Amino acid sequence: PLVLGIETSCDETGVGIVRGHTLLADAVASSVDEHARFGGVVPEVASRAHLEAMVPTVQRALDTAGVTLADVDAIAVTAGPGLAGALLVGVAAAKAYALAADKPLYGVNHLAAHVAVDTLEHGPLPEPAIALLVSGGHSSLLRVDDLAGEVEPLGSTIDDAAGEAFDKVARLLGLPFPGGPPIDREARAGDPAAISFPRGLTGPRDLERHRFDFSFSGLKTAVARWVEARQRAGEPVPVADVAASFQEAVCDVLAAKAVDACRTHGVETLVIGGGVAANSRLRAVAEERAAKYGITVRVPRPKLCTDNGAMVAALGSHLVAADARPSALDLPADSAMPLTVVTV
Ligand code: ATP
Ligand code: MG
Ligand code: FE
Repeated sequence: PLVLGIETSCDETGVGIVRGHTLLADAVASSVDEHARFGGVVPEVASRAHLEAMVPTVQRALDTAGVTLADVDAIAVTAGPGLAGALLVGVAAAKAYALAADKPLYGVNHLAAHVAVDTLEHGPLPEPAIALLVSGGHSSLLRVDDLAGEVEPLGSTIDDAAGEAFDKVARLLGLPFPGGPPIDREARAGDPAAISFPRGLTGPRDLERHRFDFSFSGLKTAVARWVEARQRAGEPVPVADVAASFQEAVCDVLAAKAVDACRTHGVETLVIGGGVAANSRLRAVAEERAAKYGITVRVPRPKLCTDNGAMVAALGSHLVAADARPSALDLPADSAMPLTVVTV
């Protein structure tokens, strides 16, 4: 099926077009520069930017794919979770396009789409799979028995999301927002063993209750204390070493728990999705650890890890192929959509 996907859950206006598992267009307009000076996304600014970018971004995607709206078999849109006002712009636009062109509409879960996008790179996802979903607002381990609807959360962060930790630590180090890419870059010149930062929820007692849960707020605080101590002593902060050691602590825990989930569930495929999946060290550590147990790691290329419309189109295409029921044309945007809901 030829599917057009619309994503507006945060600060990226994304429109993707896929045919089956083939990516035809991935147009993204970001308002990230408008938020940078605030150190985080400002919801009202994001909503307005989506409004302005929506029609031209849809047109750009159609032009790139060399198709028209009439050629499309279905329209998919992120219905949640995300910023309420931002989601509304995408959902309203998708309804308008679906109504105008008389196409079925699928309201989908943004997080399931972060997992589904990998099919554009590596083909159908072997099921069951374990998904490690690590983004700006979420960090979860999921068991995916059926990407079209059966997703079981195994654990999630009990405080900060992994991406949020990258963003906060970057700020502490004077690096720009969003913090993931500059930390990834700085870390290449640093020593990951320079500073021993805590690995959240990995002690024997924590593992009893929080085996597949994450915690990154203690790590963030530890980095802040370490940096402050340096500054108080009037010594320079070794940014590359701090970045590398922090990144190592995050990747170590993410990879260890993801591999543990695969082994516990007897699952041979680990798929990693969400913005933090773009991290070069996470990709390397996960592959190295998984290989020891014959587990295959699937991570899409970095551009598909961060928010985009192709991921929404990919999930939409999967739903159409699986004969899923389309959403009602009055489907609501749900800023708190649970992980277990793949489509509404
Ligand atoms: P959610 O998907 O939870 O709604 P979001 O849509 O804002 O959140 P994404 O676009 O999926 O998040 O991911 C953005 C996050 O990914 C940011 O926190 C950013 O710092 C992080 N990120 C991006 N690239 C990298 C990288 N190379 N290394 C680590 N983190 C990264
Ligand atoms: Mg973003
Ligand atoms: Fe996202």
